[in-house]
Amino acid sequence: MNQGKPNSVVEVMALIDTGVETSPSVSMAIEAAVGCVLAEDVFADADQPAFDRSAVDGFAVAVGSTAGAYAIAGEILPGDSAPQTPAAGLALRVSTGSAVPAASAIAMIEDAEVSGVHVTLKSAPEAAFVRRRGSSTRAGARLLAKGSRIGAGEMAVLASVGTATVRVVPRPRVLHVTTGREIVPFNEPLVSGKIRDTNGPLIHALLHTSDAQPLPRCHVDEHAESLVGAVTRSDVFDLLLVSGGSSAGLHDHTPQALETLGFSILSRKVNSRPGRPLIVARRGRQWAFGLPGNPVSHFAAFNVFVIRALDRLAGRPMPPSVSARLGADLPGVTGPYETLWPARLEIHAACITAFPLPWLDSGDLKALIGVNALIRLAANARPSSGENVEVVLCRAGFPFA
Ligand code: AMP
Ligand code: MG
Repeated sequence: MNQGKPNSVVEVMALIDTGVETSPSVSMAIEAAVGCVLAEDVFADADQPAFDRSAVDGFAVAVGSTAGAYAIAGEILPGDSAPQTPAAGLALRVSTGSAVPAASAIAMIEDAEVSGVHVTLKSAPEAAFVRRRGSSTRAGARLLAKGSRIGAGEMAVLASVGTATVRVVPRPRVLHVTTGREIVPFNEPLVSGKIRDTNGPLIHALLHTSDAQPLPRCHVDEHAESLVGAVTRSDVFDLLLVSGGSSAGLHDHTPQALETLGFSILSRKVNSRPGRPLIVARRGRQWAFGLPGNPVSHFAAFNVFVIRALDRLAGRPMPPSVSARLGADLPGVTGPYETLWPARLEIHAACITAFPLPWLDSGDLKALIGVNALIRLAANARPSSGENVEVVLCRAGFPFA
């Protein structure tokens, strides 16, 4: 990688895609593992369903029985084991999920008329209303493959086979350090010359929606040794994010601090706006990003670069790029660099439309209100409303409206 000239967005993406390794797997209680990627296959421990079950509320009779009158001989409550097949002329009341005898057929309650201890079944009982043992899955079959992600459905499948703990790739542990003597915590009084920390909460929200594990955040002044001290004192991390101090100013010491900490700097700048002074560094399996302090730069750098590293660490596939129709002319200009334009994606008439948000400069927080995507525009591109553009879907953005 070229250290002097800025690298292109694609070059920095490739650096991450080829360099970041997936974290070693760990065992975790299943409910703690939502969002994680499985590091093992999961098999059915038994047939599913494990016994013949009624799919409806109604009456079970011997298979081959016809419509007509039956004596109600009892009830099979859900949770009871299956009794003998009812004799000819007898029916057993059943609920959805009741275990039923193998040779039974069922009439739905809607097709039955009860009078005292008798029931008249108005249509022929059906064997199809029994969910047969093993009809979904046979014992030993692979239900979930290594590499799949645990969402709500996968969680229910894990529970269905009695898995209490599972081997997964853990969530990446992320240490975020904000820097700068001008920054005060957002919940403390503001005095002249100071500004509130918005990057801390911004990154918190982004990590929250990225299935990462944030470590306690720290804030330091702009001196390299303060940053070195904070990182050295912190817990073990997989990814270090440093807000501010990444450009070439007299008080920008992130590169120096990272080198003191033993990181090798792989890229110092990226040819994009916002977010040009982005630092990418590595120390063995650990990665660090020096994020330019301005909030729009932060948001863009996270969603285009940091998220790729998090996805790689967590064993998740790279996010696909999406094509959208530009919903309005750009409310500003592009320049001789790739532009990552904050936008709001919406679905109109089954078409994904990207509305570019007004954006004064990379310090303009208002550009992040309602943002859920970034439009990738090549150097000097000037697409008009209605043209197709490539967009990056963003974390911490609301889903399409
Ligand atoms: P820097 O990258 O340190 O040169 O900072 C660029 C701009 O971002 C400066 O105006 C900083 O005051 C601002 N900035 C840096 N860190 C934060 C933060 N945590 N919250 C809000 N603004 C910040
Ligand atoms: Mg600074």
